[in-house]
Amino acid sequence: MYNIIADFHTHTIYSHGQGTILDNVEAARRKGLKKIAITDHGFGHFTYGVSERDIHKMRDEIDEINSTYDDIEVLLGVEANLIGLDGTVDLEDDYLDFFDIVLMGFHHGAIPNSIKDAWGLFGRNVVGKVLPFMDKSLRQDNTMAMIRAIGQYPIDIITHPGAKIDIDSRLLARQAAKHDVALEINAGHGYMTVEYVKIAMEEGVSFVINSDAHTPERVGDFDRAIEIAKQAGLEPSRIINAK
Ligand SMILES: [Zn+2]
Ligand SMILES: [Zn+2]
Repeated sequence: MYNIIADFHTHTIYSHGQGTILDNVEAARRKGLKKIAITDHGFGHFTYGVSERDIHKMRDEIDEINSTYDDIEVLLGVEANLIGLDGTVDLEDDYLDFFDIVLMGFHHGAIPNSIKDAWGLFGRNVVGKVLPFMDKSLRQDNTMAMIRAIGQYPIDIITHPGAKIDIDSRLLARQAAKHDVALEINAGHGYMTVEYVKIAMEEGVSFVINSDAHTPERVGDFDRAIEIAKQAGLEPSRIINAK
């Protein structure tokens, strides 16, 4: 029922994946994919953000691969980090047009934009996991931060929404639909539940099914995400990388 022809979320050795760009591309070709995006973590991740020097090397490697193969298209992307309650993302102005595709998600370990965000966005979400009843506005603040981000940056996909931080699915889906941003059903994380997809579906938003592969072997492995989409009754026409 679902024929997924692109994997828009894969990691390489440039952040914390295990394969090279070419390893991921070869794996994608073996699986018959027509497109793959290389989406290592944004500059602002403390332990595994891509360095600015490497990002230009990545661009050259990808251009080279694209000129060699004509059966697959390789996109240079980034998985940018949400770093502020005001919607700030670790994507500097100089790089707004640099990437072919921009993904954005929340990750612990990203460097907060300010002292206020260190607690307001990161600290609170750590405490909130253990004591969810303590902080009634946490869910709303998380959701608003995401919504402000998609209003400010050229974001194409929100990665694993609801993973790591609590989100109001309906509100986020509604705003994502308005800004033409797709919500990811991530085959690696189990956080996008069938229930979440069903709620988001009602808001008219688009979806994308990605592997979030950290090894070449996992590129194009969509099984878990497809199962969720199927159970939710999601139409393939709503999935941007389904044929
Ligand atoms: Zn992620
Ligand atoms: Zn990722």
